[in-house]
Amino acid sequence: MNSERRLHRCCPICEGDEPRPFWSKPSLQIVRCGNCALLYLENIAPQFASGQHYDSSDYHLWPDKLASDYSPVRFERELRIFREFCPGGEVLDVGCSTGAFLFQLQRRFPRTYSVTGVDVANAPLEAVQRARAAHVTVQRAVVAVTQEAIRVCGGRAFLKRYPLERYARDARAAALMRPWTQEIAMQQAWEAALGFDGQPGGAAGA
Ligand SMILES: [Zn+2]
Repeated sequence: MNSERRLHRCCPICEGDEPRPFWSKPSLQIVRCGNCALLYLENIAPQFASGQHYDSSDYHLWPDKLASDYSPVRFERELRIFREFCPGGEVLDVGCSTGAFLFQLQRRFPRTYSVTGVDVANAPLEAVQRARAAHVTVQRAVVAVTQEAIRVCGGRAFLKRYPLERYARDARAAALMRPWTQEIAMQQAWEAALGFDGQPGGAAGA
């Protein structure tokens, strides 16, 4: 990107053209709009200006990035800072990428936040839909599998000395666990598919 042609652009909010240097490093120059004070990149590569990059990039789905984003230790610092300003309530994450921040927020503070994420990149949003589908599929399958195991085992399956009755209970309980209970995952999936939360497929609540 460093050697590519760059496009000059005006302020994305007020369309003013009064950029004032704010912060820079060799590949990045951030300016402050002299009219509305928004911080933005004054010169960007054409594919970022047109949105083409976000339609075709699979960067968000690199296995290393996903493993990092969803690591239990990820976002500890960000969550600590966030909690100082927002101890609870509704959260909108603009540019949510894979939604990992919102996932960690709900996982660590259950029932504290109602969250919605939006992003212009299609890949992570499609991945979230696939993850929801996988989640519900597994939640249903484990119930069917344990029921079949009990059928095969017969009456002894309900004796405490065998684990099948515990497996059956745990399998059913898994679908009730937040943040993605079976009902929440399904509702979010059809809301995103029908575009009830913005453009079709354009948002990823969690
Ligand atoms: Zn402006």
